[in-house]
Amino acid sequence: MLRLTDIKLPLDHPEEALTAAIRARLHVGVSAIRGYSVFRRGFDARKRGAIQLIYTLDVDVADEAKLLARFADDPHVRLTPDTEYQFVAKAPEIFSRDIPVAKSKTLQEHPHRPVVIGFGPCGLFAGLVLAQMGFRPIILERGKAVRERTKDTWDLWRKRNLHPESNVQFGEGGAGTFSDGKLYSQISDPKHYGRKVLTEFVKAGAPEEIIYVSKPHIGTFRLVTMVENMRQAIENLGGEIRFEQRVDDLLVETDADDVRHVRGVTLASGEQIRTDHVVLALGHSARDTVAMLHKRDVYLEAKPFSIGFRVEHPQSMIDRDRFGPQAGHPLLGAADYKLVHHCRNGRSVYSFCMCPGGTVVAATSEPGRVVTNGMSQYSRNERNANAAIVVGIEPSDFAPYDNSGSPLAGITLQRHLESLAFELGGGTYDAPGQLIGDFLASKASTTLGDVMPSYKPGVHLTNLAPALPDYAVEAIREAMPAFDRKIKGFARPDAIFTGVETRTSSPVRIRRNDDDLQSLNTRGLFPAGEGAGYAGGILSAGVDGIRIAEAVALSITRQEVHA
Ligand code: FAD
Repeated sequence: MLRLTDIKLPLDHPEEALTAAIRARLHVGVSAIRGYSVFRRGFDARKRGAIQLIYTLDVDVADEAKLLARFADDPHVRLTPDTEYQFVAKAPEIFSRDIPVAKSKTLQEHPHRPVVIGFGPCGLFAGLVLAQMGFRPIILERGKAVRERTKDTWDLWRKRNLHPESNVQFGEGGAGTFSDGKLYSQISDPKHYGRKVLTEFVKAGAPEEIIYVSKPHIGTFRLVTMVENMRQAIENLGGEIRFEQRVDDLLVETDADDVRHVRGVTLASGEQIRTDHVVLALGHSARDTVAMLHKRDVYLEAKPFSIGFRVEHPQSMIDRDRFGPQAGHPLLGAADYKLVHHCRNGRSVYSFCMCPGGTVVAATSEPGRVVTNGMSQYSRNERNANAAIVVGIEPSDFAPYDNSGSPLAGITLQRHLESLAFELGGGTYDAPGQLIGDFLASKASTTLGDVMPSYKPGVHLTNLAPALPDYAVEAIREAMPAFDRKIKGFARPDAIFTGVETRTSSPVRIRRNDDDLQSLNTRGLFPAGEGAGYAGGILSAGVDGIRIAEAVALSITRQEVHA
Protein backbone atom coordinates (compact mmCIF):
# COMPACT_ATOMS: atom_id res chain seq x y z
CA MET A 1 0.00 0.00 0.00
CA LEU A 2 1.32 3.48 -0.87
CA ARG A 3 0.58 6.57 1.17
CA LEU A 4 0.10 9.72 -0.88
CA THR A 5 0.09 12.99 1.05
CA ASP A 6 -0.83 16.57 0.25
CA ILE A 7 -3.43 15.84 -2.41
CA LYS A 8 -5.40 19.06 -2.81
CA LEU A 9 -8.88 19.24 -4.29
CA PRO A 10 -11.60 21.89 -4.30
CA LEU A 11 -14.24 21.74 -1.57
CA ASP A 12 -17.03 20.45 -3.80
CA HIS A 13 -15.07 17.99 -5.91
CA PRO A 14 -16.82 14.90 -7.26
CA GLU A 15 -15.80 11.45 -5.91
CA GLU A 16 -14.02 10.57 -9.19
CA ALA A 17 -11.64 13.49 -8.68
CA LEU A 18 -9.82 11.43 -6.05
CA THR A 19 -8.98 8.63 -8.52
CA ALA A 20 -7.97 11.21 -11.08
CA ALA A 21 -5.70 12.89 -8.52
CA ILE A 22 -4.08 9.55 -7.65
CA ARG A 23 -3.46 8.79 -11.31
CA ALA A 24 -2.02 12.25 -11.87
CA ARG A 25 0.27 11.98 -8.85
CA LEU A 26 1.56 8.51 -9.74
CA HIS A 27 1.45 8.93 -13.54
CA VAL A 28 -0.40 5.62 -13.95
CA GLY A 29 -3.45 4.41 -15.83
CA VAL A 30 -6.70 3.48 -14.16
CA SER A 31 -5.92 -0.25 -14.23
CA ALA A 32 -2.87 0.26 -11.99
CA ILE A 33 -5.09 1.38 -9.07
CA ARG A 34 -6.76 -1.51 -7.24
CA GLY A 35 -8.39 0.65 -4.60
CA TYR A 36 -7.79 3.41 -2.08
CA SER A 37 -8.92 4.64 1.31
CA VAL A 38 -8.83 8.07 2.88
CA PHE A 39 -6.34 8.12 5.76
CA ARG A 40 -6.86 11.79 6.57
CA ARG A 41 -8.96 14.66 5.25
CA GLY A 42 -8.25 18.21 6.34
CA PHE A 43 -8.70 21.57 4.73
CA ASP A 44 -6.75 24.70 4.03
CA ALA A 45 -8.92 27.77 4.68
CA ARG A 46 -6.21 30.41 4.35
CA LYS A 47 -7.78 31.62 1.10
CA ARG A 48 -11.40 32.01 2.17
CA GLY A 49 -12.68 32.25 -1.40
CA ALA A 50 -10.91 29.05 -2.46
CA ILE A 51 -10.92 26.63 0.46
CA GLN A 52 -9.24 23.34 -0.48
CA LEU A 53 -9.56 19.86 0.92
CA ILE A 54 -6.22 18.19 1.65
CA TYR A 55 -6.10 14.41 1.54
CA THR A 56 -3.73 11.72 2.68
CA LEU A 57 -4.67 8.57 0.77
CA ASP A 58 -3.64 4.93 1.12
CA VAL A 59 -3.56 3.43 -2.35
CA ASP A 60 -3.41 -0.22 -3.33
CA VAL A 61 -1.42 -0.32 -6.58
CA ALA A 62 -0.52 -3.09 -8.97
CA ASP A 63 3.22 -2.49 -9.04
CA GLU A 64 4.11 -1.10 -5.66
CA ALA A 65 7.88 -1.71 -5.65
CA LYS A 66 8.33 -0.15 -9.09
CA LEU A 67 6.32 2.94 -8.14
CA LEU A 68 8.17 3.33 -4.84
CA ALA A 69 11.48 3.25 -6.68
CA ARG A 70 10.22 5.75 -9.24
CA PHE A 71 9.13 8.18 -6.49
CA ALA A 72 12.06 7.56 -4.14
CA ASP A 73 12.79 11.31 -3.99
CA ASP A 74 9.18 12.41 -3.53
CA PRO A 75 8.32 12.90 0.17
CA HIS A 76 4.61 12.72 -0.73
CA VAL A 77 4.77 9.11 -1.96
CA ARG A 78 5.76 6.60 0.71
CA LEU A 79 5.02 3.07 1.86
CA THR A 80 1.97 3.09 4.19
CA PRO A 81 3.25 2.49 7.73
CA ASP A 82 1.78 -0.32 9.80
CA THR A 83 -0.38 1.46 12.38
CA GLU A 84 -2.01 -1.70 13.77
CA TYR A 85 -1.70 -1.79 17.57
CA GLN A 86 0.50 -4.62 18.93
CA PHE A 87 0.17 -5.74 22.54
CA VAL A 88 3.46 -5.79 24.43
CA ALA A 89 2.61 -8.65 26.79
CA LYS A 90 0.10 -11.33 27.64
CA ALA A 91 -1.06 -11.98 31.18
CA PRO A 92 0.28 -15.11 32.89
CA GLU A 93 -2.10 -17.99 33.53
CA ILE A 94 -3.08 -16.76 37.02
CA PHE A 95 -5.07 -13.98 35.40
CA SER A 96 -7.02 -16.48 33.29
CA ARG A 97 -10.21 -15.03 31.91
CA ASP A 98 -12.01 -18.32 32.55
CA ILE A 99 -12.21 -17.75 36.30
CA PRO A 100 -15.83 -16.73 36.88
CA VAL A 101 -16.23 -13.24 38.29
CA ALA A 102 -18.07 -14.73 41.28
CA LYS A 103 -14.89 -16.55 42.31
CA SER A 104 -12.63 -13.62 41.70
CA LYS A 105 -12.47 -12.73 45.40
CA THR A 106 -9.44 -14.97 45.80
CA LEU A 107 -7.83 -13.47 42.71
CA GLN A 108 -8.48 -10.05 44.15
CA GLU A 109 -6.07 -11.02 46.90
CA HIS A 110 -3.48 -11.74 44.25
CA PRO A 111 -0.92 -8.98 44.62
CA HIS A 112 -0.46 -8.59 40.90
CA ARG A 113 -4.00 -7.78 39.82
CA PRO A 114 -3.48 -4.13 38.87
CA VAL A 115 -5.64 -1.34 40.28
CA VAL A 116 -6.46 1.72 38.19
CA ILE A 117 -7.68 4.79 40.09
CA GLY A 118 -9.97 6.89 37.91
CA PHE A 119 -12.17 6.08 34.92
CA GLY A 120 -11.55 9.12 32.72
CA PRO A 121 -9.97 8.65 29.26
CA CYS A 122 -6.62 7.75 30.80
CA GLY A 123 -7.98 5.17 33.27
CA LEU A 124 -10.37 3.91 30.61
CA PHE A 125 -7.59 3.16 28.12
CA ALA A 126 -5.21 1.86 30.80
CA GLY A 127 -8.02 -0.45 31.97
CA LEU A 128 -9.07 -1.47 28.47
CA VAL A 129 -5.58 -2.35 27.26
CA LEU A 130 -4.73 -4.17 30.50
CA ALA A 131 -7.98 -6.11 30.12
CA GLN A 132 -7.23 -6.86 26.45
CA MET A 133 -3.85 -8.28 27.52
CA GLY A 134 -5.67 -10.42 30.10
CA PHE A 135 -4.64 -8.64 33.32
CA ARG A 136 -8.19 -8.16 34.63
CA PRO A 137 -7.69 -4.73 36.19
CA ILE A 138 -9.79 -3.42 39.06
CA ILE A 139 -10.83 0.14 38.22
CA LEU A 140 -11.91 2.38 41.08
CA GLU A 141 -13.90 5.50 40.29
CA ARG A 142 -15.03 7.96 42.96
CA GLY A 143 -17.98 9.24 40.90
CA LYS A 144 -21.11 7.54 39.66
CA ALA A 145 -21.90 5.59 36.49
CA VAL A 146 -22.43 7.96 33.58
CA ARG A 147 -26.26 8.09 33.44
CA GLU A 148 -26.60 8.89 37.16
CA ARG A 149 -23.69 11.26 36.88
CA THR A 150 -25.44 13.12 34.06
CA LYS A 151 -28.45 13.74 36.33
CA ASP A 152 -26.21 15.05 39.14
CA THR A 153 -24.31 17.31 36.77
CA TRP A 154 -27.52 18.80 35.40
CA ASP A 155 -28.72 19.31 38.99
CA LEU A 156 -26.01 21.97 39.36
CA TRP A 157 -26.71 23.48 35.95
CA ARG A 158 -30.47 23.61 36.47
CA LYS A 159 -31.00 23.90 40.21
CA ARG A 160 -27.67 25.03 41.68
CA ASN A 161 -27.18 21.75 43.59
CA LEU A 162 -23.54 20.70 43.47
CA HIS A 163 -22.74 17.01 44.04
CA PRO A 164 -19.09 17.06 45.14
CA GLU A 165 -18.48 13.43 44.12
CA SER A 166 -20.56 13.42 40.93
CA ASN A 167 -20.15 16.35 38.55
CA VAL A 168 -18.37 17.57 35.42
CA GLN A 169 -15.00 16.46 36.82
CA PHE A 170 -15.84 13.23 38.66
CA GLY A 171 -17.64 10.10 37.46
CA GLU A 172 -17.59 7.53 34.69
CA GLY A 173 -15.85 8.90 31.58
CA GLY A 174 -13.91 11.51 33.54
CA ALA A 175 -13.67 15.21 32.80
CA GLY A 176 -14.12 14.91 29.05
CA THR A 177 -17.57 13.32 29.13
CA PHE A 178 -19.49 16.59 29.09
CA SER A 179 -17.30 18.24 26.51
CA ASP A 180 -16.89 19.10 22.88
CA GLY A 181 -15.14 15.75 22.52
CA LYS A 182 -12.34 17.20 20.44
CA LEU A 183 -10.04 14.35 19.61
CA TYR A 184 -6.86 15.89 18.34
CA SER A 185 -3.59 16.55 19.97
CA GLN A 186 -0.13 17.75 19.07
CA ILE A 187 1.70 15.03 20.99
CA SER A 188 4.39 13.09 19.22
CA ASP A 189 2.97 9.62 18.67
CA PRO A 190 5.54 7.46 16.88
CA LYS A 191 3.79 4.23 17.90
CA HIS A 192 0.39 5.37 16.56
CA TYR A 193 -1.36 4.95 19.92
CA GLY A 194 -3.73 7.76 18.94
CA ARG A 195 -5.00 5.51 16.16
CA LYS A 196 -5.73 2.79 18.73
CA VAL A 197 -7.70 5.32 20.82
CA LEU A 198 -9.76 6.43 17.81
CA THR A 199 -10.32 2.86 16.62
CA GLU A 200 -11.61 1.81 20.06
CA PHE A 201 -13.88 4.86 20.14
CA VAL A 202 -15.35 3.88 16.77
CA LYS A 203 -15.92 0.30 18.04
CA ALA A 204 -17.74 1.86 20.97
CA GLY A 205 -20.05 3.91 18.73
CA ALA A 206 -18.17 7.04 17.62
CA PRO A 207 -18.74 8.13 14.00
CA GLU A 208 -16.24 6.47 11.61
CA GLU A 209 -15.10 9.84 10.30
CA ILE A 210 -13.11 10.45 13.51
CA ILE A 211 -10.52 8.08 12.08
CA TYR A 212 -9.79 10.25 9.05
CA VAL A 213 -10.92 13.87 9.52
CA SER A 214 -8.09 16.09 10.66
CA LYS A 215 -9.92 17.65 13.62
CA PRO A 216 -12.37 15.00 14.81
CA HIS A 217 -14.89 15.61 17.56
CA ILE A 218 -17.66 13.55 19.11
CA GLY A 219 -19.76 15.81 21.34
CA THR A 220 -21.30 15.03 24.70
CA PHE A 221 -24.34 12.99 23.76
CA ARG A 222 -22.42 10.24 21.96
CA LEU A 223 -19.62 10.17 24.50
CA VAL A 224 -22.04 9.02 27.19
CA THR A 225 -23.07 5.91 25.23
CA MET A 226 -19.52 5.19 24.11
CA VAL A 227 -18.22 5.26 27.67
CA GLU A 228 -20.88 2.73 28.68
CA ASN A 229 -19.95 0.46 25.77
CA MET A 230 -16.27 0.60 26.71
CA ARG A 231 -17.08 -0.23 30.31
CA GLN A 232 -18.94 -3.29 29.02
CA ALA A 233 -15.96 -4.30 26.87
CA ILE A 234 -13.63 -4.15 29.89
CA GLU A 235 -16.05 -6.18 32.00
CA ASN A 236 -16.45 -8.77 29.23
CA LEU A 237 -12.68 -9.25 29.35
CA GLY A 238 -12.77 -9.91 33.10
CA GLY A 239 -11.98 -6.40 34.32
CA GLU A 240 -13.96 -4.90 37.16
CA ILE A 241 -15.19 -1.32 37.41
CA ARG A 242 -16.43 -0.04 40.73
CA PHE A 243 -18.21 3.29 41.04
CA GLU A 244 -18.54 5.49 44.13
CA GLN A 245 -15.27 3.98 45.42
CA ARG A 246 -12.98 6.86 46.27
CA VAL A 247 -9.40 5.93 47.06
CA ASP A 248 -8.49 7.78 50.25
CA ASP A 249 -5.12 6.28 51.06
CA LEU A 250 -2.18 4.43 49.64
CA LEU A 251 -0.45 1.51 51.38
CA VAL A 252 3.30 2.00 51.05
CA GLU A 253 6.07 -0.22 52.44
CA THR A 254 9.79 0.56 52.60
CA ASP A 255 12.11 -2.43 52.06
CA ALA A 256 15.49 -3.18 53.61
CA ASP A 257 17.24 -1.19 50.86
CA ASP A 258 15.10 1.83 51.70
CA VAL A 259 13.07 1.48 48.49
CA ARG A 260 9.40 2.39 48.76
CA HIS A 261 6.82 0.02 47.25
CA VAL A 262 3.10 0.47 46.86
CA ARG A 263 1.22 -2.41 48.48
CA GLY A 264 -2.40 -1.42 48.00
CA VAL A 265 -5.08 1.19 48.43
CA THR A 266 -7.65 2.09 51.08
CA LEU A 267 -11.10 3.15 49.97
CA ALA A 268 -13.33 5.75 51.62
CA SER A 269 -15.37 2.83 52.96
CA GLY A 270 -12.31 1.57 54.83
CA GLU A 271 -11.90 -1.45 52.52
CA GLN A 272 -8.32 -2.22 51.56
CA ILE A 273 -7.31 -3.74 48.24
CA ARG A 274 -3.92 -5.42 48.11
CA THR A 275 -1.95 -4.82 44.93
CA ASP A 276 1.60 -4.10 43.82
CA HIS A 277 0.55 -2.07 40.77
CA VAL A 278 -1.48 1.11 41.06
CA VAL A 279 -2.22 3.45 38.15
CA LEU A 280 -2.96 7.03 39.25
CA ALA A 281 -5.32 8.33 36.54
CA LEU A 282 -6.86 11.00 38.78
CA GLY A 283 -7.43 13.94 36.46
CA HIS A 284 -6.59 17.51 37.46
CA SER A 285 -9.34 18.06 40.02
CA ALA A 286 -8.71 15.36 42.67
CA ARG A 287 -7.14 17.86 45.05
CA ASP A 288 -7.86 15.75 48.15
CA THR A 289 -6.19 12.70 46.59
CA VAL A 290 -3.14 14.73 45.59
CA ALA A 291 -2.90 16.06 49.16
CA MET A 292 -3.02 12.45 50.38
CA LEU A 293 -0.18 11.50 48.00
CA HIS A 294 1.85 14.44 49.33
CA LYS A 295 1.20 13.27 52.90
CA ARG A 296 2.40 9.79 51.88
CA ASP A 297 5.61 11.39 50.53
CA VAL A 298 4.99 10.49 46.88
CA TYR A 299 7.24 12.74 44.79
CA LEU A 300 5.25 15.72 43.47
CA GLU A 301 6.23 19.07 42.03
CA ALA A 302 4.39 22.29 41.18
CA LYS A 303 3.92 22.88 37.45
CA PRO A 304 2.82 25.79 35.25
CA PHE A 305 -0.78 26.06 34.13
CA SER A 306 -3.07 28.85 32.88
CA ILE A 307 -5.86 31.04 34.22
CA GLY A 308 -8.38 33.30 32.56
CA PHE A 309 -11.96 33.63 31.37
CA ARG A 310 -14.25 31.98 28.82
CA VAL A 311 -15.31 34.17 25.91
CA GLU A 312 -18.49 33.84 23.81
CA HIS A 313 -19.21 35.20 20.34
CA PRO A 314 -21.86 34.37 17.76
CA GLN A 315 -20.68 31.24 15.92
CA SER A 316 -21.88 32.80 12.65
CA MET A 317 -19.35 35.61 13.13
CA ILE A 318 -16.49 33.10 13.52
CA ASP A 319 -17.74 31.06 10.53
CA ARG A 320 -17.88 34.12 8.30
CA ASP A 321 -14.42 35.26 9.33
CA ARG A 322 -12.81 31.83 8.83
CA PHE A 323 -14.71 30.51 5.83
CA GLY A 324 -16.07 33.62 4.05
CA PRO A 325 -18.57 32.62 1.35
CA GLN A 326 -18.11 28.94 2.22
CA ALA A 327 -19.43 29.41 5.79
CA GLY A 328 -21.98 26.72 6.56
CA HIS A 329 -20.51 24.15 4.14
CA PRO A 330 -21.21 20.68 5.62
CA LEU A 331 -17.64 19.44 5.11
CA LEU A 332 -16.27 22.42 7.04
CA GLY A 333 -18.74 22.39 9.92
CA ALA A 334 -18.65 25.11 12.57
CA ALA A 335 -15.35 27.01 12.42
CA ASP A 336 -12.80 26.94 15.21
CA TYR A 337 -9.87 29.21 15.96
CA LYS A 338 -6.58 29.21 17.78
CA LEU A 339 -5.06 32.49 18.91
CA VAL A 340 -1.97 33.55 20.78
CA HIS A 341 -0.56 36.91 21.77
CA HIS A 342 2.73 37.66 23.51
CA CYS A 343 2.24 40.66 25.81
CA ARG A 344 4.49 43.53 26.76
CA ASN A 345 4.47 42.38 30.39
CA GLY A 346 6.10 39.10 29.35
CA ARG A 347 2.93 37.03 29.64
CA SER A 348 1.34 35.01 26.85
CA VAL A 349 -2.39 34.95 26.29
CA TYR A 350 -3.92 32.19 24.19
CA SER A 351 -7.22 30.60 23.32
CA PHE A 352 -7.78 27.16 24.75
CA CYS A 353 -10.34 24.38 24.45
CA MET A 354 -12.34 26.21 21.78
CA CYS A 355 -15.87 24.80 21.44
CA PRO A 356 -17.58 25.74 18.15
CA GLY A 357 -21.37 25.93 18.41
CA GLY A 358 -21.36 24.96 22.07
CA THR A 359 -22.16 26.16 25.56
CA VAL A 360 -20.19 27.31 28.58
CA VAL A 361 -20.60 24.93 31.51
CA ALA A 362 -20.30 25.10 35.29
CA ALA A 363 -17.32 22.86 35.99
CA THR A 364 -16.61 23.10 39.71
CA SER A 365 -16.22 20.01 41.85
CA GLU A 366 -15.99 21.90 45.13
CA PRO A 367 -18.76 23.72 47.00
CA GLY A 368 -18.61 27.52 47.11
CA ARG A 369 -16.48 27.76 43.98
CA VAL A 370 -17.14 28.67 40.34
CA VAL A 371 -15.16 27.32 37.37
CA THR A 372 -16.04 27.64 33.68
CA ASN A 373 -15.39 25.25 30.79
CA GLY A 374 -17.02 24.46 27.44
CA MET A 375 -18.92 21.67 25.79
CA SER A 376 -20.98 20.97 22.66
CA GLN A 377 -22.98 18.31 20.91
CA TYR A 378 -21.80 16.49 17.79
CA SER A 379 -23.86 18.86 15.62
CA ARG A 380 -22.13 21.92 17.08
CA ASN A 381 -25.20 23.92 16.24
CA GLU A 382 -25.64 26.11 19.31
CA ARG A 383 -25.70 29.83 18.67
CA ASN A 384 -22.37 30.73 20.33
CA ALA A 385 -18.72 29.86 19.89
CA ASN A 386 -16.81 29.71 23.17
CA ALA A 387 -13.17 29.36 24.17
CA ALA A 388 -11.02 29.94 27.19
CA ILE A 389 -8.81 33.02 26.91
CA VAL A 390 -6.03 32.26 29.34
CA VAL A 391 -2.69 33.53 30.59
CA GLY A 392 0.17 31.14 31.30
CA ILE A 393 1.42 31.18 34.91
CA GLU A 394 4.49 29.66 36.55
CA PRO A 395 5.06 28.18 40.03
CA SER A 396 6.74 31.48 40.97
CA ASP A 397 3.29 33.12 40.55
CA PHE A 398 1.82 30.87 43.26
CA ALA A 399 3.84 32.45 46.10
CA PRO A 400 1.42 35.30 46.94
CA TYR A 401 -1.18 32.63 47.67
CA ASP A 402 1.08 30.06 49.35
CA ASN A 403 4.74 30.82 49.98
CA SER A 404 5.50 27.59 51.85
CA GLY A 405 7.23 26.10 48.81
CA SER A 406 4.70 23.26 48.85
CA PRO A 407 4.12 21.51 45.51
CA LEU A 408 0.42 22.06 46.20
CA ALA A 409 0.68 25.88 46.08
CA GLY A 410 -0.97 26.03 42.65
CA ILE A 411 -4.05 24.35 44.12
CA THR A 412 -4.23 27.09 46.76
CA LEU A 413 -4.15 29.69 43.99
CA GLN A 414 -6.88 27.86 42.04
CA ARG A 415 -9.10 27.59 45.11
CA HIS A 416 -8.61 31.27 45.89
CA LEU A 417 -9.65 32.36 42.38
CA GLU A 418 -12.58 29.94 42.22
CA SER A 419 -13.93 31.15 45.58
CA LEU A 420 -13.55 34.74 44.41
CA ALA A 421 -15.51 33.91 41.25
CA PHE A 422 -18.25 32.38 43.38
CA GLU A 423 -18.51 35.59 45.40
CA LEU A 424 -18.36 37.84 42.32
CA GLY A 425 -21.14 35.73 40.80
CA GLY A 426 -23.38 36.46 43.77
CA GLY A 427 -22.76 33.27 45.77
CA THR A 428 -25.36 31.18 43.92
CA TYR A 429 -23.16 29.26 41.42
CA ASP A 430 -23.90 31.91 38.79
CA ALA A 431 -20.72 32.81 36.93
CA PRO A 432 -19.51 36.39 37.10
CA GLY A 433 -19.64 37.90 33.62
CA GLN A 434 -18.65 41.07 31.83
CA LEU A 435 -19.01 42.41 28.30
CA ILE A 436 -15.70 42.74 26.46
CA GLY A 437 -16.30 46.46 25.82
CA ASP A 438 -16.76 47.07 29.55
CA PHE A 439 -13.80 44.88 30.46
CA LEU A 440 -11.58 46.90 28.14
CA ALA A 441 -13.00 50.16 29.52
CA SER A 442 -12.55 48.97 33.15
CA LYS A 443 -16.18 49.34 34.12
CA ALA A 444 -18.73 46.90 35.47
CA SER A 445 -21.34 45.55 33.06
CA THR A 446 -24.99 46.08 33.81
CA THR A 447 -26.80 44.98 30.64
CA LEU A 448 -26.22 42.39 27.95
CA GLY A 449 -25.90 43.20 24.26
CA ASP A 450 -26.68 40.87 21.35
CA VAL A 451 -24.54 37.99 22.63
CA MET A 452 -26.46 35.94 25.19
CA PRO A 453 -24.22 34.01 27.58
CA SER A 454 -24.92 30.27 27.66
CA TYR A 455 -23.56 29.38 31.12
CA LYS A 456 -26.08 27.68 33.38
CA PRO A 457 -27.44 28.21 36.02
CA GLY A 458 -26.87 31.89 35.13
CA VAL A 459 -24.51 34.82 34.70
CA HIS A 460 -24.18 37.70 37.13
CA LEU A 461 -22.93 40.84 35.36
CA THR A 462 -20.15 42.56 37.24
CA ASN A 463 -16.56 43.78 36.91
CA LEU A 464 -14.28 40.79 36.29
CA ALA A 465 -10.99 42.61 36.93
CA PRO A 466 -10.78 41.52 40.61
CA ALA A 467 -11.24 37.88 39.55
CA LEU A 468 -7.65 37.47 38.35
CA PRO A 469 -4.24 38.82 39.36
CA ASP A 470 -3.49 42.27 37.86
CA TYR A 471 -0.84 40.96 35.44
CA ALA A 472 -3.39 38.54 33.95
CA VAL A 473 -6.06 41.23 33.53
CA GLU A 474 -3.51 43.56 31.94
CA ALA A 475 -2.38 40.80 29.55
CA ILE A 476 -5.93 39.92 28.49
CA ARG A 477 -6.73 43.62 27.97
CA GLU A 478 -3.77 43.86 25.62
CA ALA A 479 -4.55 40.59 23.84
CA MET A 480 -8.21 41.16 22.96
CA PRO A 481 -7.63 44.02 20.45
CA ALA A 482 -4.75 41.98 18.98
CA PHE A 483 -7.11 39.01 18.55
CA ASP A 484 -9.64 41.37 16.94
CA ARG A 485 -7.08 42.12 14.26
CA LYS A 486 -6.94 38.37 13.51
CA ILE A 487 -10.69 37.64 13.75
CA LYS A 488 -12.87 40.62 12.92
CA GLY A 489 -15.28 41.27 15.79
CA PHE A 490 -13.35 39.26 18.39
CA ALA A 491 -13.24 42.29 20.72
CA ARG A 492 -16.76 43.45 19.82
CA PRO A 493 -18.19 45.29 22.81
CA ASP A 494 -21.04 42.86 23.41
CA ALA A 495 -19.00 39.63 23.31
CA ILE A 496 -18.97 38.28 26.81
CA PHE A 497 -16.49 36.89 29.31
CA THR A 498 -17.48 34.55 32.14
CA GLY A 499 -15.07 33.28 34.72
CA VAL A 500 -12.99 31.76 35.93
CA GLU A 501 -10.95 29.28 33.94
CA THR A 502 -8.56 27.70 36.38
CA ARG A 503 -8.64 24.00 35.48
CA THR A 504 -6.78 24.27 32.20
CA SER A 505 -4.31 21.59 33.28
CA SER A 506 -2.98 20.13 36.49
CA PRO A 507 -1.10 22.51 38.81
CA VAL A 508 0.94 19.52 40.00
CA ARG A 509 3.18 16.97 38.27
CA ILE A 510 3.46 13.51 39.84
CA ARG A 511 6.80 12.82 38.29
CA ARG A 512 7.66 9.39 36.91
CA ASN A 513 10.77 7.68 35.50
CA ASP A 514 11.11 7.93 31.73
CA ASP A 515 11.91 4.24 31.27
CA ASP A 516 9.43 2.25 33.39
CA LEU A 517 6.92 5.09 33.98
CA GLN A 518 6.87 4.45 37.76
CA SER A 519 6.83 7.21 40.37
CA LEU A 520 10.25 8.72 41.02
CA ASN A 521 10.23 7.45 44.61
CA THR A 522 7.51 4.79 44.89
CA ARG A 523 7.82 1.48 42.99
CA GLY A 524 4.60 0.07 41.60
CA LEU A 525 2.92 3.49 41.42
CA PHE A 526 2.23 4.65 37.84
CA PRO A 527 1.26 8.35 37.62
CA ALA A 528 -0.65 8.92 34.39
CA GLY A 529 -2.83 11.23 32.35
CA GLU A 530 -3.73 14.84 32.90
CA GLY A 531 -3.65 14.79 36.71
CA ALA A 532 -0.06 13.63 36.77
CA GLY A 533 0.93 16.25 34.20
CA TYR A 534 1.45 13.78 31.34
CA ALA A 535 -1.54 14.62 29.13
CA GLY A 536 -3.80 17.49 28.21
CA GLY A 537 -7.02 16.47 26.52
CA ILE A 538 -8.99 13.34 25.80
CA LEU A 539 -6.77 11.88 23.08
CA SER A 540 -3.47 12.43 24.84
CA ALA A 541 -4.92 11.09 28.12
CA GLY A 542 -6.07 7.96 26.26
CA VAL A 543 -2.64 7.60 24.65
CA ASP A 544 -0.95 7.95 28.04
CA GLY A 545 -3.34 5.32 29.42
CA ILE A 546 -2.12 2.88 26.75
CA ARG A 547 1.52 3.67 27.54
CA ILE A 548 0.88 3.09 31.23
CA ALA A 549 -0.98 -0.18 30.60
CA GLU A 550 2.08 -1.40 28.72
CA ALA A 551 4.42 -0.32 31.54
CA VAL A 552 2.26 -2.10 34.13
CA ALA A 553 2.03 -5.26 31.99
CA LEU A 554 5.80 -5.33 31.47
CA SER A 555 6.41 -4.77 35.18
CA ILE A 556 4.09 -7.64 36.11
CA THR A 557 5.43 -10.08 33.53
CA ARG A 558 9.07 -9.28 34.41
CA GLN A 559 8.31 -9.89 38.09
CA GLU A 560 6.69 -13.21 37.15
CA VAL A 561 9.84 -14.25 35.28
CA HIS A 562 12.06 -13.35 38.25
CA ALA A 563 9.77 -14.92 40.87
P1 FAD B 1 -10.08 12.76 34.05
O1 FAD B 1 -10.86 12.69 32.81
O2 FAD B 1 -10.20 13.97 34.88
O3 FAD B 1 -10.48 11.48 34.91
C1 FAD B 1 -10.03 11.27 36.22
C2 FAD B 1 -11.04 10.40 36.95
O4 FAD B 1 -10.46 9.99 38.19
C3 FAD B 1 -12.33 11.13 37.30
O5 FAD B 1 -13.43 10.44 36.75
C4 FAD B 1 -12.34 11.15 38.82
O6 FAD B 1 -13.63 11.00 39.35
C5 FAD B 1 -11.46 9.96 39.17
N1 FAD B 1 -10.82 10.09 40.50
C6 FAD B 1 -10.10 11.14 40.96
N2 FAD B 1 -9.66 10.89 42.21
C7 FAD B 1 -10.10 9.66 42.53
C8 FAD B 1 -9.98 8.86 43.71
N3 FAD B 1 -9.33 9.30 44.79
N4 FAD B 1 -10.57 7.65 43.72
C9 FAD B 1 -11.26 7.19 42.65
N5 FAD B 1 -11.42 7.92 41.51
C10 FAD B 1 -10.83 9.13 41.45
N6 FAD B 1 -10.31 17.59 26.18
C11 FAD B 1 -10.29 17.36 24.84
O7 FAD B 1 -9.35 16.76 24.33
N7 FAD B 1 -11.31 17.79 24.05
C12 FAD B 1 -12.38 18.47 24.55
O8 FAD B 1 -13.27 18.83 23.80
C13 FAD B 1 -12.41 18.71 25.95
N8 FAD B 1 -13.44 19.39 26.51
C14 FAD B 1 -13.53 19.46 27.87
C15 FAD B 1 -14.68 20.00 28.42
C16 FAD B 1 -14.85 20.03 29.81
C17 FAD B 1 -16.12 20.59 30.38
C18 FAD B 1 -13.81 19.53 30.65
C19 FAD B 1 -13.96 19.57 32.14
C20 FAD B 1 -12.66 19.02 30.09
C21 FAD B 1 -12.51 18.96 28.70
N9 FAD B 1 -11.37 18.42 28.10
C22 FAD B 1 -11.35 18.23 26.74
C23 FAD B 1 -10.23 17.96 28.89
C24 FAD B 1 -10.30 16.45 29.05
O9 FAD B 1 -11.55 16.12 29.53
C25 FAD B 1 -9.22 15.97 29.99
O10 FAD B 1 -7.99 16.35 29.44
C26 FAD B 1 -9.25 14.46 30.13
O11 FAD B 1 -10.50 14.04 30.59
C27 FAD B 1 -8.17 13.99 31.10
O12 FAD B 1 -8.28 12.62 31.24
P2 FAD B 1 -7.79 11.86 32.54
O13 FAD B 1 -8.28 10.47 32.40
O14 FAD B 1 -6.34 12.09 32.72
O15 FAD B 1 -8.54 12.57 33.77
